[in-house]
Amino acid sequence: MSIDPVTSPERTDFIRDIVAADVGDGRVETVITRFPPEPNGYLHIGHAKAICLNFGIATEFGGKCNLRFDDTNPTKEEQEYIDAIEADVRWLGFDWGDDLHFASDYFEQLYDWAVELIRSGKAYVDDLSADEIRDHRGTLTEPGRDSPWRDRPVAENLDLFERMRAGEFPNGARVLRARIDMSSPNINLRDPVLYRIVHAEHPRTGDAWCIYPTYDFAHGQSDAIEGVTHSICTLEFEVHRPLYDWLLESLPVPSRPHQYEFARLNLTHTVMSKRILRQLVTDGHVKGWDDPRMPTISGMRRRGYPAEGIRAFATIIGVSKADSVIEIGQLEHAVRDVLNRTAPRRFAVLDPVKVVIDNYPDGQAEEMEVVNNPEDPAAGTRLVPFGRELWIEREDFQEDPPPKFFRLSPGREVRLRSAYFITCTDVIKDAAGAVVELHCTYDPATRGGDSPDGRRPKATLHWLPAAQAVPAEVRLYDHLFADPFPGADGGDLFAGLDRDSETVLAGALVEPSLGSGPVGETVQFERLGYFSRDPDSTSARPVFNRTLTLKDTWAKVQAQARP
Ligand code: ATP
Ligand code: MG
Repeated sequence: MSIDPVTSPERTDFIRDIVAADVGDGRVETVITRFPPEPNGYLHIGHAKAICLNFGIATEFGGKCNLRFDDTNPTKEEQEYIDAIEADVRWLGFDWGDDLHFASDYFEQLYDWAVELIRSGKAYVDDLSADEIRDHRGTLTEPGRDSPWRDRPVAENLDLFERMRAGEFPNGARVLRARIDMSSPNINLRDPVLYRIVHAEHPRTGDAWCIYPTYDFAHGQSDAIEGVTHSICTLEFEVHRPLYDWLLESLPVPSRPHQYEFARLNLTHTVMSKRILRQLVTDGHVKGWDDPRMPTISGMRRRGYPAEGIRAFATIIGVSKADSVIEIGQLEHAVRDVLNRTAPRRFAVLDPVKVVIDNYPDGQAEEMEVVNNPEDPAAGTRLVPFGRELWIEREDFQEDPPPKFFRLSPGREVRLRSAYFITCTDVIKDAAGAVVELHCTYDPATRGGDSPDGRRPKATLHWLPAAQAVPAEVRLYDHLFADPFPGADGGDLFAGLDRDSETVLAGALVEPSLGSGPVGETVQFERLGYFSRDPDSTSARPVFNRTLTLKDTWAKVQAQARP
C-alpha cells in the first residue's frame, strides 16, 4: 500500500497531539519549533525525519520553525558543514524565513546567565580534571561524591570564571559546573559541566572565546531566547530533560520552552552516526559526504532521490517513542512511488550488442514516436531515431534460450519498443565465441510496435540507434553494507562494507535526447531502473547514477503479508 502524504488524511502522532492540546487550551499562542543541527557533518536521513517533524508541525499549526546551529564545539565544527546543512534543508523543501540562528549568537547572554548561576550559588568552578570528575560522578547504583571545590565562595567562583574567559588557563584546567545534587538518581543532575575551556578557533566567533557552553547549558537557554514552544529531540535526551527544566527554572529566561522526545530513525543496511559517516569519508571508503551510497541527504540527492520521496517516507514511518529499525526497502518504496509518477522514460543500453536489420533499406532513416511516461499522458511523446543498425542489451539475447527465456534468440521474433518486430536470423561471434553482432529481419507492417495480423511477441526490448546513441558512464549502486544490521555483532564495522556496492559501466549508451541535460534530472531507463544525471557529467559524456532498480521488494513483502 502506498500512502500519498499529499492526499491521505493528515496523520497525527503523540507530539502533534501535545501541540494541538497546548494550542487548544491556550497555553501556547504561536507554535515555534526549531531544528538544531551541530555543524560537525552533513545531514543524514535521520535528520530528515527531525526536519520534517519540526518544520511540518510549524506549518500545520501556523507557526514557525527556526534553523539553529548548535555550534558550541569549535574543534569539530566547520563552515562547510553549515553551508551544506542550509542547502540540504532548503532542498528538502523547508524555509526558515528570517530565523537562521546560531547558539554562538547567544554566547554573551549565556555567559551572563552562567554568572547569574554563580551569584545565586547554583554553579561553581571546579579544578578537578575530566578524569577526576568522572571518578566522582558515581554510577547508576552508587551516588557521586562532592568535589572538594563544590563549596568555593561565590566571589572566588566569579573571579575564576572571569579569568577562564580571559584565557588565563589551559584547556581542561577548570570547568564551570552546576551545583545540583551529587546523589541524584539521574546522573545528569550530578553537578553537570556547563562550561569548558577550549582554546580553538570558532567558525563564527573566531578567537573571541576560549570557554564554550556545553550542549546542556546552551540548548534550553537558546530555545528560551528564541521563544521556542516545543523543543523536539530524540530519546537519548529524555534523561537530560530534568536538567533542561532545572536550568530554565533557575534563570530569568524570557520564555519557558518544553522538551519532548521521539525515537530516532534507524535504517537497515546503513549507519547513521555522524562519527562513522565522517570516518567513511576521511578513510576513503566512499567518494565524499555526497557519495550516492551515503545515507546523507546530499548523497540521496546525488543518487536521484526526490525530496518529495524523502518527505513521503518521513510521513509514512511516523513518529513514536518506540525504538525500531526501519527496513530500507520502505524508503526505496516511497522514492519509487514518486519516480514512477514523475520520471520520464528513456532508452539506455548498459551492455550493448549490435543488431543489423538486413532487410531494412540501406540509407533509410526514420524517427519513432515514443511515450514519455505511461503514468502521465501530459508528459507527451518524443522522437527516437531508428535505422538499420541498432544496439540492444546483451542479456536480451541468448543463443540457446532456457525454457522461460522469451527474449531474442535465433529464429525468434520480438518487439522493439515503439518500433518494429524483428526476428533473429544469424549470430556472429568473435574468435573467443563472444557474440559481436546479431543479424535480424524486420516486418515493416509492425511500425509503432503492433502487428495488423494480431501477432504478439512475448518480449518487448529497448534499443538504441547505432548512429546516434550517446556514450555514457553508468554507475550502479547497492547498499553500502550487505549486512542489514551493520556492526550489530560487535565486529569491525568497516570490514562489513560491501566492496561491490558501486559498479561502473564505462561502455553504456543512452538515447540522443540524454546527451545533455540538467545535473540531478532523474529518468527511468526503460526496463532497467531509475537513473540520475551525476555532477561528474561532461558535455562529451554524461554520467548516470542508478537511483533504484524497478523491482520493489518492499511492495512484494507487503503484498505477501496481506491476508
Ligand atoms: P551525532 O551523530 O554526532 O550524535 P546527532 O545525530 O545528534 O549527532 P545533531 O546535529 O545534534 O546530530 O542532530 C540535530 C537534530 O537531529 C537533533 O535534534 C537530533 O535529535 C536529530 N536527529 C539526529 N539523528 C536522528 C535520527 N537518526 N532520527 C531522528 N532524528 C535525529
Ligand atoms: Mg547531537
